[in-house]
Amino acid sequence: MDEHDLDEFAFETRAIRAGIERSAQGEHAEAIYATSSFVFESAEEAAARFSGERPGNIYSRFTNPTVRMFERRLAALEGGESCVATSSGMSAILSVCMALLRQGDQVVAAQGLFGTTTSLLNQYLTRFGVAVRFVPATDYAAWAEAIEAGRTRLLIVETPTNPLTEVVDIQKLAAMAHAADARLIVDNCFCTPALQRPLALGADIVIHSATKYLDGQGRCMGGAVVGDAETVGRDIFGFLRTAGPTLSPFNAWVFLKGLETLALRMRAHSENALVLARWLQQQPGVARVHYPGLPDHPQHHLAAAQQSDFGGIVSFSLSGGQAAAWRLIDATRLISITANLGDTKTTITHPATTTHGRLSPEDRHAAGIGDGLLRLSVGLESVDDLMQDLGRTLA
Ligand SMILES: *Cc1c(COP(=O)(O)O)cnc(C)c1O
Repeated sequence: MDEHDLDEFAFETRAIRAGIERSAQGEHAEAIYATSSFVFESAEEAAARFSGERPGNIYSRFTNPTVRMFERRLAALEGGESCVATSSGMSAILSVCMALLRQGDQVVAAQGLFGTTTSLLNQYLTRFGVAVRFVPATDYAAWAEAIEAGRTRLLIVETPTNPLTEVVDIQKLAAMAHAADARLIVDNCFCTPALQRPLALGADIVIHSATKYLDGQGRCMGGAVVGDAETVGRDIFGFLRTAGPTLSPFNAWVFLKGLETLALRMRAHSENALVLARWLQQQPGVARVHYPGLPDHPQHHLAAAQQSDFGGIVSFSLSGGQAAAWRLIDATRLISITANLGDTKTTITHPATTTHGRLSPEDRHAAGIGDGLLRLSVGLESVDDLMQDLGRTLA
């Protein structure tokens, strides 16, 4: 079945069937093509493939059938024309920047992006004459003030934000970007296309850390860029082909398998997270719970309109500050103390001393990262066991 035949099918069906290229062996599951290069029938065939005159595999830095199956499946799920897979989420972001920016351009990005994304923009891009401005993610007046038509090329945002789960209006930012002839880039790591499709809301490019929910079981590093054929299929592909931040076929195969259960998993992560968020609100010592699925979340209505569910990331602050937060973490027996997220295993972090520990106390305070704040990536264990594990020091 050609993947164009799949357009009429539901998300769950495309997640399982889109992009398959079956070999002459007739394998049912997707094959892992563990080969660095491909052989040609003749010198003429080699020349035609290298020149792009005839399609076909050449060399796995930029053409590998297993990687291509993952790219086509993810493109079908995000609703994009083209997808380029990369070796990590960071190399996906780097590829977008390298392909689309040049000296003199400006990037406007949300404060509180994934820390390494902020460092990439701040410490590296600025060395090459690209200016970077950071604005509070949900302050649209600040976005408007920072955007300079003719100079701003990219707006970069994550929604919901990490760790405070603020929800950013993708349609509004897309309109602001397009009015200035800039592009909106959405890092869709937290929602995945199972819960949110930024391209349909007007975003130009979606980036992923496939390391998180697309794998879903904490095994492999990878990333992806999805968008239109010209920007992604030509320009970003061109950078990948030249620079080589390539996804391995084995990792692509793990992500293909991950996509098959993505819709089921995201539903289950969201269910567990909502139960935990409601339960946390009832606990003594919990000052505030941040979860877009709670009716008192400041952007609850926007989240309900923009997303099909609320996802697996919950954060909460304890009135006892850092001492109480560390005590809760150290009393857990089940939940993993690790900064990774998007795993079947629930993980807990104390942002102020880990992911946001390099910020100055003033910047941390301005970003709303208090000393009592904890972030959970809610996994798929029994939610009763999770409540028990979190509850040891709360009661
Ligand atoms: C983890 C993460 C990244 C970086 O991805 P890697 O696969 O670790 O390189 C980028 N954005 C977000 C939102 C992330 O959580």
